[in-house]
Amino acid sequence: MAPRRLPDRRVEDPPWIAGDSEDPGDPGRVRGPPAVPARLVVAADGRRSRLAGLLGNEAESRPNERAALFGYFRGIPAPADNRSVFVMNDRDLACSYPLVDGRTELVLFAEKSRVEGWRGADGRMQEFLKYFDGLPDAPPVTDAVPEGPLLGYGDYPSLIRRPVAGSVPFVGDAALSLDAMSGVGCGFALLSAQLLAHAFAGRALDAEGVRDGLDDYRQRFEKTVLPHAEGICGDSLVDKDEATRQRMFETICGNPELSQKYLALTGRMVLPAEFQRAFMRGLMARGSGAARK
Ligand SMILES: Cc1cc2nc3c(=O)[nH]c(=O)nc-3n(C[C@H](O)[C@H](O)[C@H](O)COP(=O)(O)OP(=O)(O)OC[C@H]3O[C@@H](n4cnc5c(N)ncnc54)[C@H](O)[C@@H]3O)c2cc1C
Repeated sequence: MAPRRLPDRRVEDPPWIAGDSEDPGDPGRVRGPPAVPARLVVAADGRRSRLAGLLGNEAESRPNERAALFGYFRGIPAPADNRSVFVMNDRDLACSYPLVDGRTELVLFAEKSRVEGWRGADGRMQEFLKYFDGLPDAPPVTDAVPEGPLLGYGDYPSLIRRPVAGSVPFVGDAALSLDAMSGVGCGFALLSAQLLAHAFAGRALDAEGVRDGLDDYRQRFEKTVLPHAEGICGDSLVDKDEATRQRMFETICGNPELSQKYLALTGRMVLPAEFQRAFMRGLMARGSGAARK
């Protein structure tokens, strides 16, 4: 599948961002300290990017049907080899991360409807621990002592912006901030910064160099990052039925090569299309194996 291209709306940008603009309506000027001339300004100002607002780079918002709750605890025994444990439970994902000094972080990404009734700080904590207590493969939480209140969010839609607005490239969460369950935020922040650096390597920062560098960055971003974003936004919809999900994971786990590919996909080392091709081959091999029996 060809990578999706976000609609291109060019904004006439100034070559530099200045403070104390005399024109408060000027979208390229930020009020603040005195003017700093720059040949390239990069927007790396996070999910609520103010630069995106100033440059009219509106975010496309995609629904995320899971809420997230997390907290830090003592008294939870670390599993063998100090391994993190991830339990897929129905449509939720429960994670346990052993940390240093006997602390453990518990994280739950759960369907919103499941946690909506968990009211009040104490009630929420009780329900949260009860949830982990009921998971067969999670470490025991009977003696868990919270180190503080539960943190998290009830609604965290994925936000996707154009990687370039006018003459300003966007990197990290300013460009795309996805469902935290995917665990890609810091990785994609570094990846997008690296793509930008590669796009500008060896180019002069004159008008032509900047234009070509920005175009190169946009293409790299759309080819490398957006296909993952599509898959992650799909996962956030939580609408796969249990039988389909079970079949998918049986196919993946029953085939060592496919298991490696799946790990590479979730580590964002291969593109979704490459995994999908391998998955289709795995499905066919499974089908023909079953037919032979
Ligand atoms: C609950 C939760 C759990 C997460 N878990 C993970 C995880 O397990 N793994 C993972 O990889 N990611 C995770 N993330 C996402 C991750 O935190 C972000 O993707 C990552 O921090 C993005 O980095 P960034 O540098 O683009 O943006 P940010 O970290 O938001 O940094 C932007 C910076 O710009 C600064 N800034 C903003 N405006 C201005 C201004 N006008 N002038 C100067 N500075 C400004 C801000 O102060 C901030 O320091 C999680 C997010 C949440 C909410």
